[in-house]
Amino acid sequence: MEKIVIIGSGPAGLTAAIYAARANLRPLVFAGALYGGQLMLTTEVENFPGFPNGIMGPELMEAFREQAERFGSRIEFVDVTAVDLRKRPFSVTTAEGTFKTQALIVATGASARWLGIPGEERLRGRGVSTCATCDGAFFKEKKIVVTGGGDSAMEEALFLTRFGSQVTVVHRRDNLRASKIMADRARNHPKIDFIWNTVVEEVHGDPVMTGLRLRNLVTEKSYDFEADALFIAIGHDPNTAVFRGQLDLDKAGYIVSPDGVHTNVEGVFVAGDVYDIRYKQAITAAGMGCKASMEAERFLEMLESSEAEQAVSA
Ligand code: NAP
Repeated sequence: MEKIVIIGSGPAGLTAAIYAARANLRPLVFAGALYGGQLMLTTEVENFPGFPNGIMGPELMEAFREQAERFGSRIEFVDVTAVDLRKRPFSVTTAEGTFKTQALIVATGASARWLGIPGEERLRGRGVSTCATCDGAFFKEKKIVVTGGGDSAMEEALFLTRFGSQVTVVHRRDNLRASKIMADRARNHPKIDFIWNTVVEEVHGDPVMTGLRLRNLVTEKSYDFEADALFIAIGHDPNTAVFRGQLDLDKAGYIVSPDGVHTNVEGVFVAGDVYDIRYKQAITAAGMGCKASMEAERFLEMLESSEAEQAVSA
């Protein structure tokens, strides 16, 4: 029987693990086959306090992991396939078996969204990608398109200028959602240009991508556009499939919580992007992981003292 299981290994999950481990709870962390969360797919992180010169995302997550393990967290690199939260102890199932736990922290984060257009799936890994850090180097001196208007799209576009001969950002509006600093950097970069009010309708090529069908949303005109790669940076969807029907979710699938820590199931806590539709930062996720862990610790203390009281009165 575990005292506490943490699902997820991004900044939220691993901060929760650091706090739980330092509270002597020996947390069991199901890190997922893709450990480390979204920072593993990013390059330089410039806004995580404590690193005045920036730090690479994967390096930061490696440090989180070391710190969690140093205090006794046990990290398993497997995905959770099912949970049963109807009664305590809760059950958490992975390919390695079913584990019982008194408390659970859900920090499963969010995954990159796809466009759902013809050609996208067929050409994944053959020109179409959601990860510039992973795939950018394949497109040296090639024409690259990035779609999206947020910070991720700007970050991807800027990173891809290291490889591509030209990076074109295709955005569905005429205004960027990205923060001013990121937007300015992209706008001022000589290798980056923008196509506004436009969506990608189809990806062309066989066996590799050779171009896109774009549609201008103002004129409603569609046209072909030559390009070798499409990087999709249009946001994320929360990873909550295994909790459906057991934890309250909103329309978009994010976990609902009255205070950003507790869920509708007593003993189950939430942290990070799986709840947070507003801030979605590594630092806010880490802060939420800390809060979830402290609340879980308090919950376990209450549980222990009420069990002790019951034993005395029996
Ligand atoms: P985001 O801010 O939600 O932006 C998503 C972008 O994709 C928006 O511009 C949106 O268009 C567009 N989009 C969404 N669905 C689309 C579709 N079906 N077709 C075409 N375009 C679509 O997501 P994000 O950029 O991944 O950023 C998420 C959070 O992480 C933000 O809080 C961001 O600040 C943070 N972040 C920060 C950094 C950094 O500080 N360095 C880096 C990356 C991410 P509309 O604008 O029209 O809605």
